[in-house]
Amino acid sequence: MIKKVSRHIVQNEPLLFELSSPGKVGYQLPELDVPEVSAEKVLGAEHVRDDIEDFPEVSEFEVLRHFSRLSTWNYAIDLGLYPLGSCTMKYNPRVNELVARTEGLAWAHPYQPEELSQGCMEVIAALEQALAEITGMDAVTLQPAAGAHGEFTGILMIRALLETRGNPRKKILVPDSAHGTNPATATAIGYSVENIKSNDRGMVDLAVLERAVTEDVAGLMITNPNTVGVFEENIRKICGILHDKGALVYMDGANMNALVGVARPGDFGIDVMHLNLHKTFSTPHGGGGPGSGAVAVAKVLTPFLPSPRLKRVNDRWSWNYDLPQSIGRVRAFYGNYGVLVRALAYIMAHGGNGLRQATLDALLNANYLRKLLEPHYEIAYKAPSMHECVFSDDRQAKKGIRTGDIAKRLIDYGFHPYTVSFPLIVRGALMIEPTETEPKRELDLFADAMISIAKEIEENPELVRNAPHSTRTPRVDEVTAARKPIVRWKPESKASLSPAAD
Ligand SMILES: *Cc1c(COP(=O)(O)O)cnc(C)c1O
Repeated sequence: MIKKVSRHIVQNEPLLFELSSPGKVGYQLPELDVPEVSAEKVLGAEHVRDDIEDFPEVSEFEVLRHFSRLSTWNYAIDLGLYPLGSCTMKYNPRVNELVARTEGLAWAHPYQPEELSQGCMEVIAALEQALAEITGMDAVTLQPAAGAHGEFTGILMIRALLETRGNPRKKILVPDSAHGTNPATATAIGYSVENIKSNDRGMVDLAVLERAVTEDVAGLMITNPNTVGVFEENIRKICGILHDKGALVYMDGANMNALVGVARPGDFGIDVMHLNLHKTFSTPHGGGGPGSGAVAVAKVLTPFLPSPRLKRVNDRWSWNYDLPQSIGRVRAFYGNYGVLVRALAYIMAHGGNGLRQATLDALLNANYLRKLLEPHYEIAYKAPSMHECVFSDDRQAKKGIRTGDIAKRLIDYGFHPYTVSFPLIVRGALMIEPTETEPKRELDLFADAMISIAKEIEENPELVRNAPHSTRTPRVDEVTAARKPIVRWKPESKASLSPAAD
């Protein structure tokens, strides 16, 4: 095949192994001016190996250029709109990074004495208090490291409470629109999961729920706004139905960026919820880096919070481990501290009015996109959208084009795809969350791209079916990639891995 020609900074780049040529090194050392001693002698023979198979031999500059080029292959929020629904890929102000790197915060050690940690503990206390106020709940733990971990912590607390009442019960109810982590959490804790069907407005069906809530039900895990971007308008009633039967309500708060400063889960009856600080409160995420799934609880659950808890005695913070009903630790130390610092910096910089404005802007941006795209794509539910909008590929499917094809074509237009095929209750879902940080110009560019793709599907569906066309690697066979992943380089796998070879 013809070698692809480089286009400006879109350079071809082989693997580091393929750049290797024998004898090249990336360092230069001065002449030895002490007697030479063998590595075996210093380290012991068992720690020394003769050779590392296929170890790449390259110069410093080649390594630098290799990784710099690879970095330009990545899509980032700094490059453009990142409309991945449910994930809240917003811009995170750089100043939060600066604050998180403050020497006394970044270099504090969890084992340093309490008298040297008063400032760090104050940060934790202030954030717990701010999040309690934002959610309308009574207390907050910052230990969980991610949203899913927060769910785990919350359901453990529900179980602990029900145990003190004599029966942990058997079931957790989960609406069919839920994120996969919800049923996974309930199962991990030993509950069986019962699905609750949504109605034709994309909301929990009250009649179905009422029938499902028996004495066996420990609780309901509900996302609000839910994953179709719709506010559960009967949320008070839903909480009442559960409470009447002695069950609790867990709220998946991953979508709190649609509520902050506008509505408080504590006020509409939620017993326990998590926040994804890395989504709503500004920590760069998506690469699997540290996160925080802070959990907020109503008064009935406070005795069960993870240990230790902060307490204030004589104007000093200390850690209280004397918590007989606590579920215990859920993580080493006190949570992902750097994420907590960023969240507090973000909250304080915005203030109450600023946070509310961010929420309103997120709703405005999502609804602006919905209006622009509705003439071209089928909206999944007519109910008003909150911070994200979910379409189906119904119209495009008539031409044989599915949501995954449209997503691939979006790459040719310079955008990261939206969330594909989730939530599962929408056939061929296109889930779009622009977030509040996008300017109108960028939203218009994205809408233009989506509308242009809709027209291409009418006129030349093959173009979309075979997209992307502008990337180094064309459409890969996803089934083969998932079933037979090539994760280790071998000289014979060179042809299939090297972008320069296709
Ligand atoms: C992101 C998300 C989660 C999981 O959060 P992690 O921090 O990735 O563990 C759970 N529920 C919903 C609705 C989400 O969007």
